[in-house]
Amino acid sequence: MAEQVATFPAKYGRAPQLTVILVGEDPASQTYVRNKAKACEVVGIDNTTLRMSADTTEEELLATIDRLNKDESVDGILVQLPVPKHISEVKVIEAIAKEKDVDGFHPLNTAALWQKKPNSSCVVPCTPKGCIRLLDAAGVEIAGKNAVVIGRSQIVGLPAAKLLLDRNATVSICHSRTSNLAEMTRQADILIVAIGKAKFVTGDMVKEGAAVIDVGMDRDENGALCGDVDFASVEPKASVITPVPGGVGPMTICCLMENTIQCFLNKVQKA
Ligand code: NAP
Repeated sequence: MAEQVATFPAKYGRAPQLTVILVGEDPASQTYVRNKAKACEVVGIDNTTLRMSADTTEEELLATIDRLNKDESVDGILVQLPVPKHISEVKVIEAIAKEKDVDGFHPLNTAALWQKKPNSSCVVPCTPKGCIRLLDAAGVEIAGKNAVVIGRSQIVGLPAAKLLLDRNATVSICHSRTSNLAEMTRQADILIVAIGKAKFVTGDMVKEGAAVIDVGMDRDENGALCGDVDFASVEPKASVITPVPGGVGPMTICCLMENTIQCFLNKVQKA
């Protein structure tokens, strides 16, 4: 990616630009924002982090987004979620111009993803895109396989399911009201887990030889970072499995870099 970006100033007059907005001082969000800035440095993407105080009003945040939408030098805008409770997340997501929506959360990008085949200019959310990228990198065949996604959030579970469907897997989406969860997961050749519950999926819930992608970012009983999957009991049964930390998280950031480049190229190649 860095080699590709290095050619942009000569070809297009500048490098891509990503602006990240962080409202408040949530420690986890501060880490995520720092990691995104570091990745931009590595890839050669110009980046700015706008830090706004926790008492920023919704109006102020929306005005900032509006200014960035109009700023020709900005290619990508990302508001680190969650935002403080007095600010509407929906309004924030809808305020970002869809062409600069590097997270792929804008309703128009979501709609494009759920069309039969997403069009090439549609921005796909980073985490589910990264899950598919990891399966591909591990050489996991997706077409014709039984895939189970646990979690139906707008940012992970639902788009992950759609991406698997686009690759011709037979997909089941499970959630907190699924009555026979372990029975469902034991059918899965591919299991993507995105629920937010530490070590929830155990070895007895997994089919021998399954490919397991753990999206969770949780804390175990000792406060250590862990996933939604109990790695110790699942790893011996899985053909491939992602660790936490060091699996989906870094790949998500990689896909964010890719989405920023995509937004930049969509703009400069249209001009
Ligand atoms: P979310 O919005 O809270 O959604 C959680 C989903 O899990 C919901 O659909 C919920 O079902 C389902 N669920 C909860 N408990 C369940 C249970 N006992 N059995 C079956 N399903 C259950 O969470 P999210 O934003 O998708 O995030 C999920 C996890 O991924 C979190 O740990 C988050 O930190 C992590 N994450 C990581 C990255 C990364 O880059 N690595 C990115 C995003 C998120 P209902 O719909 O029925 O409530």
